Amino acid sequence: MKHNHKPGYLFILLFCWLLLAAPRPGQAQEDTPQLTVRLGRDFGYSSGGGDIQGTFSFRASGPDNLESVTFYIDDEAIGTVTQPPFRLQFNTDNYGLGLHTLRATGVTSDGQILESTPIVRNFVTAGEGWQAAGRIVVPLLGGMVLIMAVAWGITMLASRRRGTLPLGAPRQYGAYGGAICPKCQRPYSMHMLAFNLLTSRYDYCPHCGKWSLVKRATPQELAAAEQAELALASPDAQVPELSPEEKLRRQLEDSRFEDTR
Ligand SMILES: [Zn+2]
Repeated sequence: MKHNHKPGYLFILLFCWLLLAAPRPGQAQEDTPQLTVRLGRDFGYSSGGGDIQGTFSFRASGPDNLESVTFYIDDEAIGTVTQPPFRLQFNTDNYGLGLHTLRATGVTSDGQILESTPIVRNFVTAGEGWQAAGRIVVPLLGGMVLIMAVAWGITMLASRRRGTLPLGAPRQYGAYGGAICPKCQRPYSMHMLAFNLLTSRYDYCPHCGKWSLVKRATPQELAAAEQAELALASPDAQVPELSPEEKLRRQLEDSRFEDTR
């Protein structure tokens, strides 16, 4: 059966070669100069599917001896440009709603008249344009708000877990450094998701849960604040010495929430 495959395979190869070698329709007319018209959006809305609204520009390009280009919307000539760049601006609001044919004719120095391929566009109202844009932008904004809310939630959870830290307990300050809460005077690790305001950050204290403007504290200030926590503790409260396992667990947790950027 294997030998049956060969003629079929050869035939496909031959067919592909013929396809590649066949002159494409565009190539056949290479001797005739072409006038190409493109449409650029200057300000407004374009659905990508042919609906447009706002200020757009015709842009025509052709042979080097192109002398003038006249632009048309349907059968109305909207302007003639006699020097490069052959460009003409128009606003869709000056024309009726619905489908329009946009095209151009060009004249060369040797008197040839060139016709561009027509472009068909559907002129829509500004309202329709903004509504369509809203259908894209609104879900996008919604998604961003959702992501921010989730990030916020993670930070809050992380802070809640840390809120159980006993007074005076040894701790690690993460990549963002430590700060001292102006409300309860206890030191804490600054959060990845705090708001940066020049040299200060608007961050929340995991101990008392209050938001305040804090600065990165020096190690000396932090050590002093840790010592001060001891004074806040009731006299009979024991400062717990963390077991090695607990220390390691805390360090891992710190690196998980703070060192990742
Ligand atoms: Zn506080």
